[in-house]
Amino acid sequence: MEIEVKSKDENEIVFIVHNAEVPFINAIRRIAMMEVPKIAVEDVNVIINDSAMFNEVLAHRLGLTPLISNAKAIEGMVMAEECDCEEYCPKCSVSLTLKKTGPGIVYSKDLASTDSTIIPVYDTIPLLKLKEDENVDLEAVAKIGIGENHAKWMPTTVCAYKQYPKITFNEDAEVNYDLADVCPRNILKSDRRSKKLKILDIENCSMCKTCMRADENDYIDIGYEKNIFIFTIETDGSMPPEEVLLKACDVLSDKADKIIEFSK
Ligand code: SF4
Ligand SMILES: [Zn+2]
Repeated sequence: MEIEVKSKDENEIVFIVHNAEVPFINAIRRIAMMEVPKIAVEDVNVIINDSAMFNEVLAHRLGLTPLISNAKAIEGMVMAEECDCEEYCPKCSVSLTLKKTGPGIVYSKDLASTDSTIIPVYDTIPLLKLKEDENVDLEAVAKIGIGENHAKWMPTTVCAYKQYPKITFNEDAEVNYDLADVCPRNILKSDRRSKKLKILDIENCSMCKTCMRADENDYIDIGYEKNIFIFTIETDGSMPPEEVLLKACDVLSDKADKIIEFSK
């Protein structure tokens, strides 16, 4: 198997995997979404909430506020159910407090964390609005969890693959230059000088087959390369996408080890 990175930034990685099978790629996709641990607010102890927002809605909003959960931040922490403490402890949870007086909008940056490495990813997520002299005072307890249990623990916002597109032209049919105008992604370009259609960016082809449907003389054919995949992982900023991929591979490897152990 070979992997070629096409693009990478803070929150998104796009890579091409050669010589892989669908079950393997799909297992990585599902684990990356559902089984890579991340920190999110699980319990909220509301002391004062004078705002018009119900406590439940506020707690839900806090739960969905992404918190930094990279490997450095969660190093040494354990899942709450694996911890031997009664309720919360620094090994399994992080406390964030929110104390503000109105008027004004309360933002994610107003959450004060007991751990300087575990803070909201973005400062400007609006949490609630306070009128003159209204107060909010609460403690939000964040814990490690996995997406299988709640979407707030999913580190990925996009985690998808597609098979590598394959565009072929029927040399015996008449060149259909009009197909260049039909493609919604501008993949095709008519080149009357060399009497053919050119493919501009095959990886951007969505395999929608709009061109095939508009092609009456079967000049174009859209297929896919069987064992080549274009994989995209985008995160909510809580951890870098390559960390999600690495962790997903670790989880899959652990599962394989368990099967090997069981089969001995
Ligand atoms: S399959 Fe869709 S995106 Fe791909 S070349 Fe044809 S029309 Fe364009
Ligand atoms: Zn604990």
